[in-house]
Formats: sequence, structure tokens, C-alpha cells
Amino acid sequence: MNILVCIKQVPDTAEIKIDPVTNTLIRAGVPSIVNPFDAYALEIAARIKDQTPGTKIVLLSMGPQQASAALKECLAVGGDKAYLVSDRAFGGADTLATSYTLKTAIDKLEELEGRFDLIFCGKQAIDGDTAQVGPEIAEHLDYPQITYAVEARIEGDEAVVKRETGEGYEILAAKLPCVITVTKPSFNPRYPTIKSKMAANRAVIITLTAEDLPVDAGRIGLKGSPTKVKKTFTPPRKQGGVMIHEATGEESAKKLFELLNPGRRLADAQGGALTAVVIGSNTEDAVREAAAYGADKILVVDGPEFNHYTTEAYTDAMYELVQKYGPSTMMIGATNVGRDMGPRLSCRLKTGLTADCTAVDYDEETGNIAWTRPTFGGNLLAVIMCPAHRPQIGTVRPGVFKKGERKPENQPEIIREAISVKPERIRTRLVEVLKEAGAGSVNLENAEIIVSGGRGIGGPKGFELLQELADLLGGEVGASRAAVDSDWIGHVHQVGQTGKTVGPKLYI
Ligand code: FAD
Repeated sequence: MNILVCIKQVPDTAEIKIDPVTNTLIRAGVPSIVNPFDAYALEIAARIKDQTPGTKIVLLSMGPQQASAALKECLAVGGDKAYLVSDRAFGGADTLATSYTLKTAIDKLEELEGRFDLIFCGKQAIDGDTAQVGPEIAEHLDYPQITYAVEARIEGDEAVVKRETGEGYEILAAKLPCVITVTKPSFNPRYPTIKSKMAANRAVIITLTAEDLPVDAGRIGLKGSPTKVKKTFTPPRKQGGVMIHEATGEESAKKLFELLNPGRRLADAQGGALTAVVIGSNTEDAVREAAAYGADKILVVDGPEFNHYTTEAYTDAMYELVQKYGPSTMMIGATNVGRDMGPRLSCRLKTGLTADCTAVDYDEETGNIAWTRPTFGGNLLAVIMCPAHRPQIGTVRPGVFKKGERKPENQPEIIREAISVKPERIRTRLVEVLKEAGAGSVNLENAEIIVSGGRGIGGPKGFELLQELADLLGGEVGASRAAVDSDWIGHVHQVGQTGKTVGPKLYI
């Protein structure tokens, strides 16, 4: 088994503070660390190596020379060889340019190290926070992908992966070679031994520059990046709480189709039409709701191959629709599914994708969409634009927009598209949907009431009390990273940067 793990060195965003006078990030003295999700990915790779003698783990990073330190740390806990892609020409890259550069580096490494059966990435880097590089590498290579993995093993010519779905877990199998992105598993990365640390310190990190890679100069660095950071600013200070009158079940049901609300505003601002896309099987209910919430046109792709989400079927269908209808702007929900498909689609379209937006506006002056998104663990907000490429695409965080008024009398144009995807095109298969204790029903992202606990809860018993309260209130239980790391409660409950993004009406 030949495994590649992509490692990014990041500032420890938990240590970043905001200067109260200038309102900017204080980076001085902030330690650089191995991106935590990359450390989990390496641990999963190392476990496969433990099971499969003869396995080689190659590490790849792109960044300044200082990133060698991160690679050495990783060599000490399972890596066999490390490469650093480093050149000023790569600076300022967005995810499309980053993934393209890493893809050309992978081609080069395969000449030197042999074909990789598995390529691991972290789910996301905790500074950029986009979660787009892994799926984009998979798209460049035309490999199957499994995102949000918490466990992986090899069976024959397949990787069998336990994947977090947002509400629980599923087991998927993907044909090798494939790309796997890793979220927080239930175990911690191993520690190095003194001997492995000393050996890693002596190891030579091989540097590759732009000259060593067959890169197209127009596709790297700032120049090759469709998305541009227009400005960054610190989030406004939170005000005192406001009273919200009863949140009924009816209100919570209305949360679906919320993207049609800002969609209407953007379509009107651009003098265009608002189109909804419904993909699935037995889509009547979704079509009816999309109509009631204000779509001018609904494109429907219905078929058995769309019953359960697969990256290939959904991306292929969306790609065909974009080619046919040529939209100027697209919004995709920043759910586990949306963040799996979005980067594949934008990469295939060679356009920019802004990740996990919390505000979306039309910029009259430039005619572009101004996408606002949190970065650096929410310490900073950035406004991103995609001036020279269309469609301009953003994934939008669930729960930040309210649904518009429901008007059942709306009668949009409904177009049923005869799109089908051949079974051999789909290279991942659903093995099982897991109903683990508690895990099957945790829906933090859409929860209106969350009762959350951290280290102060004292242990697993404390979480039983929180569950009791949450059940009485009709809410969900959340947890901090410290509580999850202590194994007091499962990761599906974790709120925050390495867990779920939530938008409840009441958070205790
Ligand atoms: P992610 O996609 O979150 O990383 C996932 C995994 O990919 C990592 O865990 C790691 O395994 C691998 N990986 C990522 N980068 C590297 C690397 N250099 N070397 C090795 N492995 C790596 N770009 C966009 O396209 N869209 C945006 O919305 C966007 N917003 C931004 C906002 C701000 C304020 C800034 C400063 C940059 C933004 N960028 C955006 C650029 C983006 O942060 C960089 O392209 C970055 O190099 C890669 O994205 P990421 O850190 O989000 O990686």
C-alpha cells in the first residue's frame, strides 16, 4: 500500500487574539502547528500501515520553508518520506490554485514513489477553513472521494470508510485509488518516541519548486486564483440577547429552502430569474416547497441513482445543468453534502468557490457577489469576490437565513431534465447507515435549542443531566472540544471550529 498524506502547517488559531485598538489579528508569538485534521488523517494512515506490512506513507506540504517543521513532526509519527512544495510563485493561491499545484506535485511524486493507492487530507485547515482542497484534488485526479471520514480500512481493492453525515454515520466503500478527507475521529494521534523524533530531526525534506513541477504559470498563485479576498474585518461584538417568542415545530419545518430567500434578493438585484435545482428520487415534496418559497423556475433531476447522495452522480448532474443553463451565481448549502459536492463542481467548472458564507450581497459597483465568510476560527470575517469567472459559487452556512413567506399559490416553470448517470460512473457505494447510540438522532446544525457542556460538567454523568434537560426542552446536547477529547460524549455533539456550526434560537 502506497499512501500520501497532505499536511498543512497552520497558526494555532486557538491562540490568536484580536488587538482591541486596531481590530486586527495578533499573529506575533502564535505557534505554528500541524493542522489538527491532518494529524488525524496521518493517524488513520498509520493504522492502515500497522495492519498492512510494507505500506509506505509519503507526506506532502505546500508552503514556506518553515513548513518543514510540521513535516518533521509527522515523520516522527508514521511518515516515511516528506516533500515540501515551496516557491514564491505559489503564494496567494486560493483553493483552486492550491489543489492544482498539489495535483501536479502528486503527479511528480508518483514518478518518484510509485502510484498512490490512497490520498489523505484533513477535512479542513483551521486557518483557511474552506474544506475544499481535498475534493478539488480528487476532481483534478478524477478519483472517487470520501469526505468527513473518522475511520478507514482496506478491503480488497476498496477503502471502507466510516463517514460522519452531520446527523450520524454511514459506511461507504470507494474503489482505490481514492481521496479521503478526515474529520475528528474517536481516537487521538499517537505520540512520537524519542528514537522516532531523533530520526525525523535528521531526515532530509525534499523541496520542489515551480521549476521542478510541470505547472501552467497561469493556474498557480494569486494569478491562477479565481477568488479574491476583498477585505477582512473583525466580527462585530455580540449584543445582549433578545427575546424570541415560541419556536414551534411549524417554524422549524420552515427552515428548509432558506436559500431561496437571499436567492430572490440577488436575482432581483441582477435583474435575473431565480432557479431552484431539485435532485433526488421521489422529488414531488421538494418541488412543491421550492415553488412555494419563490423559485421562478425549478429544474428537476429524478431517478433511482439519486436516491442516496453520491459525489459522482450529483456532481455530474449539476455540471450538466450548469453547462446547459449558464447561471451567473450559484448558492449551495454548506452541509456535509454541499461541501462534498461544491468543490468538485467548481473545480470541474474551473471557477471560484467561496466557502461557508454567512452573508451574501450584490455589489452594485462591480456587479459581483460579495460573499462574507468567517476564517481563522471565526476570529475574522472576509469578503470574497470572484470577478473574472462565472458562475460565482458559494456554499452558505445552514441556519443563517430565514425562509421567506410560503406562498402555495406560486406557479413556477417546472422543467424535468432527463439526466441519468451510468452505474459504472459511481465509484463509491453505501454499505450501511449506522444507528449508533445517540448518533443517529443528533441534528445540532438545525437544532433550535441546544444545551451544551464543557470541561466544567465534570464527566459523562454530567452529560446525562444535560440530555435530560435537552429532552425536556425538545433540544439537542452540544459539547466543547475539551469534553469530547476526554471521551465524555461523542464527536457528533461537538460544537465549534472542529465540530459543528450551530444557529439555535436558545443556547444554554
Ligand atoms: P482546506 O481546503 O480547508 O484544507 C483541507 C486539507 O487540504 C488540509 O487539511 C490539508 O490536508 C490539505 N491542504 C490544504 N492546503 C494545503 C497545503 N498548502 N499543503 C498541503 N496540504 C494542504 N480560497 C477559496 O478558494 N475560497 C475561499 O472562500 C477562500 N477564503 C479565504 C479567506 C481568507 C481570509 C484567506 C486569507 C484565504 C481564503 N482562501 C479561499 C484561500 C485559502 O485559504 C487558501 O487557498 C489555502 O491555501 C487552502 O485553503 P484552506 O486552508 O482553506 O484548505
